Amino acid sequence: MNREAHDGLDAPVVEVRGCSLSYGSHRVLEDVTFSIMHGDFLAIIGPNGSGKTTLLRIILGLERPGEGQIRILGRDLDHFKEWWRIGYVPQKAIHIDPIFPISAEEVVGLGRACKKRPPRWLSSDDIDAIHQALSRVGMEGMNKRRLSDLSGGQQQRIFIARAIVNNPDILFLDEPTTGVDVKAQDTFYEMLKELNSQGITIVMVTHDIGVVNRYVTKVACLNRRLVFHGTHDEFCSSSKVRALIPGDNHLILHRH
Ligand code: ADP
Repeated sequence: MNREAHDGLDAPVVEVRGCSLSYGSHRVLEDVTFSIMHGDFLAIIGPNGSGKTTLLRIILGLERPGEGQIRILGRDLDHFKEWWRIGYVPQKAIHIDPIFPISAEEVVGLGRACKKRPPRWLSSDDIDAIHQALSRVGMEGMNKRRLSDLSGGQQQRIFIARAIVNNPDILFLDEPTTGVDVKAQDTFYEMLKELNSQGITIVMVTHDIGVVNRYVTKVACLNRRLVFHGTHDEFCSSSKVRALIPGDNHLILHRH
């Protein structure tokens, strides 16, 4: 279903080189360098305030690093124009007005707007893409449902459908299980794993390392600096990670 990455499956889809960022005198990111490869399912973890959201935002061009460079899908960020190839579910996507009368398919349709000029009428291709996106997140048949009538987990699936409606190469999610019922979290991660197996590179900021342990292929651990970046197995044997995660880390550091 997915096209190949910009110039081959072995190429990095994101390259972050020497990036630092301060808010006033507050240093939030310090000399962060790493690459995200096509097909990764990457968890970015770290303590509160360690710069995880800021790192996502500089990759997406929503903040500018004071120093460093970013390349995305083979282009310098300043020259990257194909934003429809990127899906983003921000942290606050789920905070919606409970009485706003918008349907699931209207929310997903908003994701098609970035490829259109006004007036942004939906074509039959758009409708097909919306239905396909809803089906990929396990929400087929829910297109007419009012968003505010859905559970937190269902709403989050709708926001993911909006983010993947253009069949992106990379999906970024910021703490996606906030507001998702604990019982629904496993099926939620299974759905992300399925999207990843369909060729979408997934980059997820999370504090849910116990569950993530079962799904991700790579881990980046941030504490202003990049403390660790590697495969899940390397993560389990890293003493730097053990030092960063307080308490009993048996559950975190062993797959179940
Ligand atoms: P995390 O996602 O790891 O919790 P953030 O990237 O949200 O961390 O924030 C890192 C630090 O930057 C925090 O101390 C936060 O208060 C600060 N910060 C984030 N955004 C801003 C902003 N727009 N202005 C000033 N400080 C900010």
